[in-house]
Amino acid sequence: MSSTDTIFALATPAGRSGVALVRISGPQARAALAALTQRALPKPRRAALRRLFDADGISIDDALVLWFPAPHSFTGEDVAELHLHGGPAVIAAALAALGRQEGLRLAEPGEFTRRAFDHDKLDLAQVEGIADLIAAETEMQRRQALRQARGHLRRWLDEERADLLRLLARLEAFIDFPDEDLPEQLYSSIDSELRTLAEVLARALQDRSGERLRDGLEIAILGAPNVGKSSIINMLSKRDAAIVSSIAGTTRDVIEVRMDIAGFPVTLADTAGLRAAADEIEAEGVRRALARAEHADLKLLVFDGGDWPAIDAETAKLIDDAVLCVVNKADLLAEPEPIAIEGRALLKVSCRTGLGFDGLIGKIEDRAQNLMGTGSGALVTRTRHRQAMEEAKAALDRALKVRQPELKAEDLRLAVRAIGKIAGRVDIEDVLDLIFKEFCIGK
Ligand code: GDP
Repeated sequence: MSSTDTIFALATPAGRSGVALVRISGPQARAALAALTQRALPKPRRAALRRLFDADGISIDDALVLWFPAPHSFTGEDVAELHLHGGPAVIAAALAALGRQEGLRLAEPGEFTRRAFDHDKLDLAQVEGIADLIAAETEMQRRQALRQARGHLRRWLDEERADLLRLLARLEAFIDFPDEDLPEQLYSSIDSELRTLAEVLARALQDRSGERLRDGLEIAILGAPNVGKSSIINMLSKRDAAIVSSIAGTTRDVIEVRMDIAGFPVTLADTAGLRAAADEIEAEGVRRALARAEHADLKLLVFDGGDWPAIDAETAKLIDDAVLCVVNKADLLAEPEPIAIEGRALLKVSCRTGLGFDGLIGKIEDRAQNLMGTGSGALVTRTRHRQAMEEAKAALDRALKVRQPELKAEDLRLAVRAIGKIAGRVDIEDVLDLIFKEFCIGK
């Protein structure tokens, strides 16, 4: 797999569509486009309507074509785009015509983006941002991914890295020129700046909202059989993804429904009803329900309005600070109306009339926003970033503990390297330039 190969692929989903996009990237892109159009290339980056032909001169389609000469293209190579009519036979004919050209081959998955990275068009964090943008299912995920794809994390890392390199340059001056008369105060200022940098990293690490927004909010719905847990999920998802039945104990496994609530990705787990189990399968269901509840970001405890003021004891046992208490079947409520359970505020809802659902969605939204932000603050969005930043932070902590400039410098170098991993550029040779720039040594 040489990157001097010219690659091509359908960039839009297979199947029928109004328009299908085929991309070609590499040194043969120019020849490929000229051969297909049997004409001179259009002006760079200007759409042109062209008739496309295969090698036998049979016309394939009338398409819009674009020509992006290197390096001003997505991959940094010569790139051509064909905007075809999106029919399977049109796409097949165009791909076949390209496949028959000398030096062209079908692209591997992710190969266009890989080439963009290899040609410094994107760093690794941006590549991840693009992957997230393509995977984004909700508005907040889209916002976060777009920021990362646009280089938000990279710019932040570049600043951190530049600060570290400046400190390293000062330390190197101590090491290489111990006889030079460098003020002691400068040395101690390095530690205070190091401390600030360590704090900045610690703050970024504390914020887990970016990773959470990628994963989604986990909500577990818990309550006795027949209180209306499945009905609540159906109301929330507005689709029949959970089994709704009036026979007690039908939801024996954990059923997950993924949905978008106010732009946040939410996974709702419908759990087995909490009750003394009639058989082993049901007991397993209850066990799973409780295990799920332990890991959930939010627990919805559902009580039956038809039974009020009696409340289910098994469900009431689970009440703590993190739960949201819901009394369903509010349409069946007899006086007096419930306002609290064990001193905790509750929400009245009815799946029959729709009452209370705006309030319930509002509460879920608040919780989601609390945990995930709105896609505009977090820097760390993946475990990979977290691990590298933790590595950098640990190196800075070590650097702060040692006194000898050689040891300090070594830890700083490790911190720079760890941060460089996130963008996929590990290169500490930069430090050499900085040493001489900042100190003007060698006068
Ligand atoms: P689950 O076992 O907790 O999942 O409960 P289901 O969602 O299967 O509902 C049990 C029964 O209660 C079904 O017959 C539903 O139609 C009924 N039900 C659910 N919500 C309401 C409600 O708000 N009002 C009334 N009157 N009945 C409801």
